[in-house]
Amino acid sequence: MESSGIDLTQFVHPSHVSKNLLCPITQSVLEKPVMTPCEHLFCEDALLEWLLRSDRCPVCNNLLNPEEISKPGRVIVNMLAELKRFCPHRSRGCLWTGPNEQVEKHLSSKCSHKDDLDNVEHLKDLVEQLKVENHKIKEVREGEERRTGGAKDGRSEAMAVSQ
Ligand SMILES: [Zn+2]
Ligand SMILES: [Zn+2]
Repeated sequence: MESSGIDLTQFVHPSHVSKNLLCPITQSVLEKPVMTPCEHLFCEDALLEWLLRSDRCPVCNNLLNPEEISKPGRVIVNMLAELKRFCPHRSRGCLWTGPNEQVEKHLSSKCSHKDDLDNVEHLKDLVEQLKVENHKIKEVREGEERRTGGAKDGRSEAMAVSQ
């Protein structure tokens, strides 16, 4: 089974996370939370998986009609949204922390792990640019040497001759 829920170690203050925001099935912080008619909260994926084997609520054993499963209220959604998280790439050196609701945005735009990749591309561009510049400088210098005709050492003399 694909694991759902967000592990407490992903949060900056795991001890401040209310137990009400943990999924009773995954024991992790609710991910894509859903609410049963008996007002118990679960990760959507975990509850769907559970319903393949049972038609009762894992917490209170009430009969569950899948059609009565809904999104939780705004307060729950907001509490989950504002929990402070680390970047999932923390182990690779990204120091970003921010609200749970901004993790996706961070990953798709500002994650320094991604920046590393961008920097490599940027460096490649720079190297290409430098090659061009280097070539230009060489041309200018050679032109200069040809004009002055003054070979200052053997090497540039040879270059001037070979032109
Ligand atoms: Zn229940
Ligand atoms: Zn990051």
